[in-house]
Amino acid sequence: MSLSTQMPSTRLASYARQSVGEDQGLRQQVEDCRNEATRRAWSLVAEFADNDTSASKARGAATAWAAMLRAFDAGEFDALIVTDVDRLTRSLTDVLEVRPPKRDMRIIVVRGSIDTSDPSGDFMFKQLVLLAEREVAVKTVRAQRYARDRRAAGHPSPGLTPHGYRWIFSNERDHTGTRYAIVEEEAQDVRQIFREYLAGAALGQIARDLNEAGRRTRKGARWHTSTVRRILLNPFYAALLPPAQPTGEHDLARIVIEECTAGAWESIIQREQLLATRSTLVGAKSNHDGNARRWLLSGLAICSICRSPVRSARGETHPTARKDGSGTAASLRYHAYRCVNGHFMRNGDIIDEYVAEVCIGRISQPDSRTLLEPPETGPDIEVLNAQKIELEGRESAIALLIASGKMNAQAARDALDVLADELRGVNNEIARSILRDPLAELAGVADARAWWSEATLARRRAVIDALMVVAIQPVGAGRRVTTMDAAAASVAIEWRH
Ligand SMILES: [Zn+2]
Repeated sequence: MSLSTQMPSTRLASYARQSVGEDQGLRQQVEDCRNEATRRAWSLVAEFADNDTSASKARGAATAWAAMLRAFDAGEFDALIVTDVDRLTRSLTDVLEVRPPKRDMRIIVVRGSIDTSDPSGDFMFKQLVLLAEREVAVKTVRAQRYARDRRAAGHPSPGLTPHGYRWIFSNERDHTGTRYAIVEEEAQDVRQIFREYLAGAALGQIARDLNEAGRRTRKGARWHTSTVRRILLNPFYAALLPPAQPTGEHDLARIVIEECTAGAWESIIQREQLLATRSTLVGAKSNHDGNARRWLLSGLAICSICRSPVRSARGETHPTARKDGSGTAASLRYHAYRCVNGHFMRNGDIIDEYVAEVCIGRISQPDSRTLLEPPETGPDIEVLNAQKIELEGRESAIALLIASGKMNAQAARDALDVLADELRGVNNEIARSILRDPLAELAGVADARAWWSEATLARRRAVIDALMVVAIQPVGAGRRVTTMDAAAASVAIEWRH
């Protein structure tokens, strides 16, 4: 028996609840509780009531139920009175809130005469608690089984659908039950992000290109290095379903690709592309916009004298006073390249224009196809993929050997370690061979000028880098280079082939 039952005046609180379609009104419940308190000569110190029929249903902490629990925790009353057991709870599981181990609240039920301070009343109440616990357990098992079946079928859990897909609701699913449908316009963003990154573009540059093309994220926000990075790490784009992560953890970098299973939806990019981007991004800190190149040749062209990469700079004109005495023209800012060792600062526009023409001319030539084709000696991706599948097969063979007792745990661990190493090696090989070939797509281009005008800045820079070294020469101070001929005479192109 608890101490409170021996005290002459038990402080009582009542709880009432009314749901949709119930005839026993709140007023009646409150009245019944008051009468019972009077009969026992106890003081009713608080009354709590939830009206679930009202249009704006209170939830969570805003309910009278939650307020009642807080009041009990604050020691404001000793026992709770309700008219019926089903008044006490919205669902049976609410019972768990008021009885041990969570709380030891004395409960008095007017109809049925349950008082948890009586052994028989307590027994009845314990039965209710057991029923409630069973209800929770059944629900959990059902949810786990559903999640497991869903995973085995390759279906993602509902939640945030990645950019490039939309969620298919159950009433519009076909017989395959696929959950993701491709949104073509967004999928193009995803493909561009992968293509550009594998062609050597910085994250910030990719974001800038998307923003300048008027593209926005799912939330309507501008692209940022972090959003681009998340796309490049996301296994869903290669139709890979990651293993369930601990609740609240959404770190894409921590997903192990080898632990992903096949997803039952259409991929947007190749699995090899994902392996390649992840191999360079996982563990690498995300670059901020500072690393992005805004101009065609900054950090790419070199100074012809000291051979240091040039930096972009903001030039400023210094107009002299006009001869007619009408003052001085406003100074203008212009895009410039400068040598970090002070050998020159030159207007950048004409140099960019000249180098672009040289590039277009070069890739228009009939032999450009061989020029840009990947070396024959590189590893064959198909062979690597076959190796991968073979290694994965060996892994399940080891699992069988353990299960059948033909291999002991230590030997299995060693074998699995070796396998994991080999698998990592093959994945890295695949990643490298993709990275080595950023310009493969250019090999079949018919109209070089059209390709150039459509290409992103990052892609143009990658082409220049693959073809040539651009060495910028100083010109006399104050001399202005304004024609293509003059540019050609002051910019040296050193072909790589
Ligand atoms: Zn220099």
